[in-house]
Amino acid sequence: MKLFPAIFLAHGNPMNALADNRYTRAWRAFGEKVKPRAVLMVSAHWVTRGTAVTAMEHPRTIHDFGGFPRALFEVEYPAPGDPRLAQRVQELLAPAQVMLDEDQWGLDHGAWSVLRHVYRHADVPVVQLSLDAALSNREHYELAKRLAPLRGEGVLIAGSGNVVHNLRRMDWNGDAPPAPWAEHFNRRVDDALRSRDHAALIDPVDDEATRLAVPTPEHYWPLLYALAQQDDDEPAEILIDGIEHASIGMLSAVFGRA
Ligand code: ZN
Repeated sequence: MKLFPAIFLAHGNPMNALADNRYTRAWRAFGEKVKPRAVLMVSAHWVTRGTAVTAMEHPRTIHDFGGFPRALFEVEYPAPGDPRLAQRVQELLAPAQVMLDEDQWGLDHGAWSVLRHVYRHADVPVVQLSLDAALSNREHYELAKRLAPLRGEGVLIAGSGNVVHNLRRMDWNGDAPPAPWAEHFNRRVDDALRSRDHAALIDPVDDEATRLAVPTPEHYWPLLYALAQQDDDEPAEILIDGIEHASIGMLSAVFGRA
C-alpha cells in the first residue's frame, strides 16, 4: 500500500496565487510528482470554535483579504469537494466532535493560493479542516495524528500557513532582507525538521525570536498537522525555503516519501 507524504506549504503573500516564482515552481513540481485522489487541507485562515470540515460538493472560492488587485479577486479555484472524505475525517477524529460544514466555508486563500499551483487544473477534490482556536499546539498535533490512516487511502494531508509570520514587521519592499529574529527562528525550525525533533517544534523555546516569529499561532499550526504524519523512519525534506518581506517565512516541507 502506497503511503502518501504530507506537506506543509508556506502561502505567504496572497499575490503568490498569480505569481511565477521559485516558490510557486517548487509547489508545482511537487504536484507533478504526487497525485492523490483528494487533498485534506488545513489552512491558517479557517479558525473556528470547535473543529469543522467542509462537506459540500462544490466549495466556493473565498476571497478573504482586502486591498489587493482586482485580478486576485477574480481567481476561481473550482476543485470539487468530497463529502465522503469529510465523513471519514469526522470518523477518524472521533471522539472529538467535528462539524460537517455543508454551506458556510469553502476554499479560503490559504488553500487556493497554493493549490492553484500544485494542482492547477483544479481536478483533485479538496476538503478543508478548520483549526480549533481553543486547542494548544500539543492538542493540534495529537488530533492531527488521528488523520494518519488517510495517507494509505490516497489522500494528501496538506497544511498551509507560514512558520514565520509577523504582519506588523513586514516590509513591502520586495528586496527587504530577512529580520535577524526571523532568520534565527526559521533556522531553528529547519534544524528541528532535519533532526526530527517533534518536541522542539510542538513547543518552541519561549524567547524573543519565537514571540516575534509566531505572534499568533494560526499560521504555525498547519505545520503541526503535516509534521504529525511523519513516522519515525520517514524523512522530512525542505521543499523550498526563504524569508520574504523581512518577516514572512516561506519554508515548505514534505514529510514521508513523495
Ligand atoms: Zn496567511
